[in-house]
Amino acid sequence: MLTLNQDDVRLGCHATDWREALAQAAQALTDAHRVSAEYREGLLAREAQSSTYLGNGIAIPHGTPESRRYVRSTGVRVLQYPEGLTWHDGHRVNLLVTIAAQSDEHLDILRQLTHVLEREGVAEALARATRAEEVIALLSRVPVTAKLDAETLCLGLPVRDRLELALFAAARLRHAGCVDAGFVAAIASQPPLALGQGLWLVHGTSGVQSPGLALATPERRLQDDAGDVAGVFCLAAQGDAHRSLLERLDGLLARGDGAQLAGLPAEQILARLAGESAQAETARVRLLNAHGLHARPARELVQVARAQPLPVRVRLLEGSSEAVSATSLTKVIGLGARRGQTLVFSAEGDGAAQAVSALAEAVRNGLGEPVLPIRETPEETLPRAAPPAPIVPPGADELLTAIPASPGIAIAPAYVLRLPTFQYPERAADAARERQRLERALHGGHEQLQALVKRTAGGEVAQILSIHAEMLEDPALREAAFEAIAEGLSAEAGWWRAIDTAARAQEALADRLLAERAADLRDVGRRVLGLLCGVEVPTPPEQPYILVADDVGPSDVARLDTAKVRGLVTARGGATSHSAILARALGIAAVVGAGERVLALNTGAELIVDGENGRIITTPSPERRQRSERRLQEQQELQRAAHGQRHEEARTRDGHRVEVGANLGDTAHAADAVERGAEGIGLLRTEFVFMAHPQMPDLATQVAEYGEAFDALGGRPLVARTLDVGGDKPLAYWPMPREDNPFLGVRGIRLTLTRPEVLETQLRALLTAAGTRPVRIMFPMIKDIEEFRAGKALFDRVQPEVKATDVQLGVMIEVPSCALLAPTLAKEADFFSIGTNDLTQYTLAIDRGHPILSAQSDALHPSVLRLIQLTVEAAHAEGRWVGVCGELGSDPLAIPVLVGLGVDELSVSSRSVPMVKARIRGLTLTQARELAGLALRQSTAAGVREALEAV
Ligand code: PEP
Ligand code: MG
Repeated sequence: MLTLNQDDVRLGCHATDWREALAQAAQALTDAHRVSAEYREGLLAREAQSSTYLGNGIAIPHGTPESRRYVRSTGVRVLQYPEGLTWHDGHRVNLLVTIAAQSDEHLDILRQLTHVLEREGVAEALARATRAEEVIALLSRVPVTAKLDAETLCLGLPVRDRLELALFAAARLRHAGCVDAGFVAAIASQPPLALGQGLWLVHGTSGVQSPGLALATPERRLQDDAGDVAGVFCLAAQGDAHRSLLERLDGLLARGDGAQLAGLPAEQILARLAGESAQAETARVRLLNAHGLHARPARELVQVARAQPLPVRVRLLEGSSEAVSATSLTKVIGLGARRGQTLVFSAEGDGAAQAVSALAEAVRNGLGEPVLPIRETPEETLPRAAPPAPIVPPGADELLTAIPASPGIAIAPAYVLRLPTFQYPERAADAARERQRLERALHGGHEQLQALVKRTAGGEVAQILSIHAEMLEDPALREAAFEAIAEGLSAEAGWWRAIDTAARAQEALADRLLAERAADLRDVGRRVLGLLCGVEVPTPPEQPYILVADDVGPSDVARLDTAKVRGLVTARGGATSHSAILARALGIAAVVGAGERVLALNTGAELIVDGENGRIITTPSPERRQRSERRLQEQQELQRAAHGQRHEEARTRDGHRVEVGANLGDTAHAADAVERGAEGIGLLRTEFVFMAHPQMPDLATQVAEYGEAFDALGGRPLVARTLDVGGDKPLAYWPMPREDNPFLGVRGIRLTLTRPEVLETQLRALLTAAGTRPVRIMFPMIKDIEEFRAGKALFDRVQPEVKATDVQLGVMIEVPSCALLAPTLAKEADFFSIGTNDLTQYTLAIDRGHPILSAQSDALHPSVLRLIQLTVEAAHAEGRWVGVCGELGSDPLAIPVLVGLGVDELSVSSRSVPMVKARIRGLTLTQARELAGLALRQSTAAGVREALEAV
């Protein structure tokens, strides 16, 4: 739907020619952050294909399908040229409605505009308008069409007279949501009017919510005191929206088609009422164009229609659409036909059959666009690869490797979660009933989610589930489903179409975190589908088990009884997938990305999951099981002991101290970190503070939130990283241009330096909140001294004003160039903290979240270790300290190596603090140095792990 606000309209524009106007339009979209600058080329390319002039002085520039990748969000910019300009096809243009659309939303906009164009004098009024509100009012009037479709027909009723038929028809309008009970009561007291040919009409205006026309026909033609009764129409009238309906009814009677109407099947009745005569030749064709009947194919269609020797009309089979002239561009676009819908052409007279088949043929051939046939299920629309090789289930005592996602060892039978299959009819006759069913299921789904949110209160799971509950309330999603139901789909098919469309649009987003929301949408969609189909979600066993699943949706995890789930194995997903994050949050041993063979396991098959080393052993031999049980017991004992000593310092047996801090996102968790033994916060990911607010948090808000952490720390140091968004971390209110390679794009310090006022406020907030307490501030994604100096310049402006007393300014070492140049940086930075997650991805050139490759993205790779070595040496030469705040810091094999390399501080998740401290206490510095040397001599990450394990 086209919704405009004043910022979307620019009045009084001037341009010397159409190209300049187009450039202005592109700039307007770019300024609004709807598109990136490249979209301009897409607009030009589109005009080169064919003009976007629509009629009545309006052109609707929009990009080519290829240029959609430059669209950041769907929107419109309206530019008014009061003096007019000549478009490249010779038409005079006063208004450009420039569209940025990510998928087919532009069809709705187009459709609405064509309705605008139909109104007389509107083009002149738009050209003359002197206020944005006038333009908005003229463009935004939503066309109301009266409802007339299969749902408003009730045929073959066992009734005795006209009045009963009238009441049936009125009740049908009520079920369809067009009228209220008052309308029905008023109809009861109204004698039907004779239309002739056995047809009668009752009508009303009060109690009408939306206009509509219903028809009720008797089983057999009736004869009552007033005459012959073949059917009664009931009209819910509103404004003039029903006018065209009455005109069509008039036309039908004038053609003498009324007498047979009652005996026809529903589809033909609708055809007659759409304006198609009984004598007409018709041809149906399914529209295959990927983006529906948008302006370009519509123009082709109109040209073919104009070439016919007689008038051809066209309507949409789905819905209650009127047959319109196929030679009118605005009317054809106004149909809003989408891929998969059926167009019905009709014509009368000599040569009618050839004319309609010429048009159908043109549509079949794609109207100038390449088209792909439609397969019946959405999954099948994807090109098929070679038939998959049969999956061999893992054998006895077989070792499978996967991505370690959450540490710990679990031994228990598998519970293999297979997504339920839903079977339902695609179409349903009674749309009102389907709508009600969907309403009920949505309500049920919402209640389930609320209950789950309560059960999981406070944690990450609860947050994700409340997002799911919000999704169920999304009016756009509901409307899309209801629309599909009105087109004749069943509640299940309508709902799934709405979910699938929204999920696909989401998946197309460049931003991975946002794209991952598609899984949430499908997850929530399945919940409602389960309620509609009465399919029980599989219930997990009563005994402890290891959950094996393709990928686990957040609500699946929330349903789990964490007391029973010992471990988690997923076939898909990387270490940053939702399932991995949730498993870590719940403290469950987990491996992800194990491959689809694990799905061939039987529920009940014994498994050992080693979440630390990314291993699964299926149906282990008794010896292996015993060994693992011993390790598990040892681990549990170690954990208990570590927990007991969690508040003591971590010193090696020969007295070398290593500080252990906690990584936090939420400042409210600082107290918990201290309780778990953290000696400070080694990494505060401040972007979470920004993400928790709908707009940029101001100084006071930030001071309060950072202050909460300082208060909880009781004088322990807080290392805060300045805002690190971009790349994989989006910030809703800081739109960023789409980048082909966001990890190599504008993120971290590169981004914040583009808005120094944001960075300055954050620095001021951190320093103010700290006051006399120890604060360490570091910049993320620094590549060299220049960037550090740019950030430091801001710091140097703020600090003399705030005068915090215990401050250090440091650099995160995440980019290899920075590690290589550490000697230069160490001269000016107070400390380094090594972000091994990013350092590894940039060193090994493996996307850290890659579902397949991330298993190889091992920070124990000797190349990464060498960069750490360089960093530590450079820092110590200048008397600076070095921390490690990436995931490597809690890897048990890596801890001795990091200590041996001279790392002074490890910052890990709060949950890992006691064990990391215990591990350090079990070492001597001499031993650690030897292990570091051993690791550095290896040539691969696997070599490092093997060598360390062998010691
Ligand atoms: C890192 O890259 O190692 C790091 C700690 O930062 P993040 O994981 O937040 O990118
Ligand atoms: Mg990082």
